[in-house]
Amino acid sequence: MEIGLVGLLLVAVALPGWGQSGPATADVYLNGRDDSFQLLGAGRPLASEIFRKIDVHLNWHTGELPAGQKAFGIRTVKRAPGSAGPDAFAACRLSNSAGVEITVYRDRLNDLLNPFLNAHSTPLGVGASIQREAEAALPAYVLAHELAHAMEGIARHSERGILKAPWSASDFNEMAFHRLTFTPYDIELIHRGLAARMAGKSLESDDSRAARK
Ligand SMILES: [Zn+2]
Repeated sequence: MEIGLVGLLLVAVALPGWGQSGPATADVYLNGRDDSFQLLGAGRPLASEIFRKIDVHLNWHTGELPAGQKAFGIRTVKRAPGSAGPDAFAACRLSNSAGVEITVYRDRLNDLLNPFLNAHSTPLGVGASIQREAEAALPAYVLAHELAHAMEGIARHSERGILKAPWSASDFNEMAFHRLTFTPYDIELIHRGLAARMAGKSLESDDSRAARK
């Protein structure tokens, strides 16, 4: 029986795309008491759509991340700490044994929004309506970028797509048409990270079972 189990595991690991085959669900808490809702609340429908395309369903809640829940929380502080990298507009940390808390820096997000709002019409060479679309899409892409960091659970950026940092003018242009996507590798890491998070409970019971032996 043990040999059979090893064989099954090898087959599973060898299958291409294993780990991203099934749909996943993630609960996201957007803080309603600080600036999180005002800054990012309008981005929820498009962020949901971005994740739906990679088979991840987002359940949105308003409020603080409940302790002990396997979920993602978003809160906002006024200023980035001195330790924040020059391009960072948020940070993720484990807030308890189960959840991940994303802290958005309001000053950095305003820096990201304002040059774009004020100066991009000429460099991008896009019409006013396209620029309005990009502005409207930006909160959703900020949510998608930060949630993807939290779901992957590792500190990395991609060379292109939603997890690129910093975004370029052409990335903003892609956002206007809702065409900026996750790379295949990011999709794999997101599903792997979510699966590992969900498996935490069964791993615990494996440990306690081993401890009883
Ligand atoms: Zn990032």
